[in-house]
Amino acid sequence: MANSRREVVLNGIAASPGLAMGKAVVFAKRDVRVPFRRIEQSEIEGEIARLHAAVDESKRQLGETRDKVAAEMGESYARIFDAHMMILEDSRTMAEVESKIKSGFNAEFAFNSVFLKHEKDLWEKGDVYIRDRAGDIRDVRKRVLSNLSGTRKLSQDLSELQTDVIVIAHDLSPADTAQMRKERVLAFATDIGGRTSHTAIMARSLEIPAVVGLQNVSSRVSDGDTVIVDGNRGKVIVSPTPETEEKYKLEMQRYASFTTGLLKFKDLPAMTIDGHSIMLSANIESHEEVQSVIEHGAQGIGLYRTEFIYIGREGLPTEDEQYEIYRSVAEAIKPEPVIIRTMDLGGDKFLSAFESPKEMNPYLGWRGIRFCLARKDIFKTQLRAILRASAVGNVKIMYPMISGLDELIEANQVLEEVKEDLRSEGMKFDEACEVGIMVETPSAVVIAPELARHVKFFSIGSNDLIQYTLAADRGNEKVAYLYEPLHPSVLRLIKQTIDVAKESGIWVGLCGEMSSDLVCAFILLGMGIDELSASPYVVPAVKDMVRSVYFSDAQRIATTALETTDPARIRQMVLECIGREFPDMLL
Ligand code: PEP
Ligand code: MG
Repeated sequence: MANSRREVVLNGIAASPGLAMGKAVVFAKRDVRVPFRRIEQSEIEGEIARLHAAVDESKRQLGETRDKVAAEMGESYARIFDAHMMILEDSRTMAEVESKIKSGFNAEFAFNSVFLKHEKDLWEKGDVYIRDRAGDIRDVRKRVLSNLSGTRKLSQDLSELQTDVIVIAHDLSPADTAQMRKERVLAFATDIGGRTSHTAIMARSLEIPAVVGLQNVSSRVSDGDTVIVDGNRGKVIVSPTPETEEKYKLEMQRYASFTTGLLKFKDLPAMTIDGHSIMLSANIESHEEVQSVIEHGAQGIGLYRTEFIYIGREGLPTEDEQYEIYRSVAEAIKPEPVIIRTMDLGGDKFLSAFESPKEMNPYLGWRGIRFCLARKDIFKTQLRAILRASAVGNVKIMYPMISGLDELIEANQVLEEVKEDLRSEGMKFDEACEVGIMVETPSAVVIAPELARHVKFFSIGSNDLIQYTLAADRGNEKVAYLYEPLHPSVLRLIKQTIDVAKESGIWVGLCGEMSSDLVCAFILLGMGIDELSASPYVVPAVKDMVRSVYFSDAQRIATTALETTDPARIRQMVLECIGREFPDMLL
């Protein structure tokens, strides 16, 4: 019984603000469960039939995916699935599984133990190519096991939740999170993850309170337990006492009136007391968020992360499908701008067809512009759709993950080719459509003067700039203590970027999560940033902060911060200067 248990408080990382209380639904580790059962002689035939049915279904699924991938991405990618198919067609291995069933084991256990042994044998041989083959066997093993046990995808379960629940999981991918519906999922909490992982960012967009990096929440909570998720302080309370429940109910009311109160500033400019203005825009992950951008009083969309158009689906989106999406956003937000970032796949967001990438370091691998330039067919389709949408609104294009000048020049060449094609087809687009880059690698900061000659704006991607500068994975709770936005190396790189932009006559914004942290936003204001782009729900709080301070104070404190090695000292100086109360999560 949930309430007869003792109250337990777990501490993690505040990933998305807000408070919620409800019953838990637990999704444990993602690996497929393998039931074990000794079977009777009379059951053998039935188990073998189940095995064959699951293998046939797996082959059917593989064939379907293969055809889609071949049509949309090319034969070389489709070959992965041929390799998987061959594994299932290997009669010797299947005979081994059957003989294991005949020796008295259920189909799942028999299948898993035979395949696992092959996988281990190959892995131990050590060679990179052979290890890839082991990876193929693992993928096939999981597919057949999930067909055998009828296990469905986590994202499917999440999209179909019926009642108001608190989701507890070992891990959630950005694609899983995108499936959640605010009406059903009151909050979520996970064992792993960091504050700027895309799962956390997605939660903030959906306005679902969340705590990540709790280490063992998925084993401490059971289905049906009462749980409080405090996304402001990064706490999860399991089986709260009646007193704790009462305390949190009051706090929920206070938080709700605080957030509604902020909306009264929504139509006022983001201007300091002494008359310095910045542009305050919002980040979106889906076209459905445009209304929220408008309701929260943002002056446009400073970052549209388009990856979610590509992930969590079978196959690739067509040009027309994308055009409709971009057009609807551009039309809804005009005359304000929308900066559409070309797909930043890789890192922690993958095309479904490549669900388990074989990269050792995906954040340092085939990500962002690197993927786009290697797959110009996919890149060009997106650029065509964006350019066509520029005919109906104020659209700007931004490339992610630029680390070298050649990449930018090549991306611009591809853009020119696409424009030429559109002209020759008589398709309309905005000839003056501005192009900018994310400055999110230390390398881009160092060569910023050269990069600035080829673009109209910079948008600093602090989420990545921090992880690449401090060599601390943004999604790993174990190194979260190192992931410090106010580290002097981060602040100095940001200041350098702002100065170069000003000297080069282009504008510069910041669209990472530092814009949603009021202390960081204050420092950025003082450094002379032109634009801040934050999650829509934070925009009123950032505006409130900007309107309640002096630019001269922000400049003075930013200058001191650049010379200060103690982030806690910087926070304290800023908080004293802001002199207003905000929820912990925003500070
Ligand atoms: C960033 O890196 O700061 C950024 C805004 O991009 P993303 O979070 O999508 O990597
Ligand atoms: Mg980034």
